Amino acid sequence: QRLDFAHKISRQITNENDILVFEDLNVKGMQKFNGSMVADNVMGLITQLSKYKTELEGKLYHEIGRFEKSTGVCSECGQHHVLTLNDRNFTCTACETYQSR
Ligand SMILES: [Zn+2]
Repeated sequence: QRLDFAHKISRQITNENDILVFEDLNVKGMQKFNGSMVADNVMGLITQLSKYKTELEGKLYHEIGRFEKSTGVCSECGQHHVLTLNDRNFTCTACETYQSR
């Protein structure tokens, strides 16, 4: 059932997107806070299945490190911004583009 679920979710993710970016999650660390939800590491399975399906279809798969800053980085020029959790959008201080967090 778990494998079937992972295949269906990864198929849906791959069908709906041409570029997939996954964060390398600290699953062991997360288990301390929400053990039952991540205990069987189905997220890791979904990531693996999405990766091979994406590559099989010639789409782009990219993994981002868990310590790599991704929030508040301007997608146009790379300028870094400090955002609070309430900041859902921001205007880049360098190139002035308006972006989603
Ligand atoms: Zn910018």
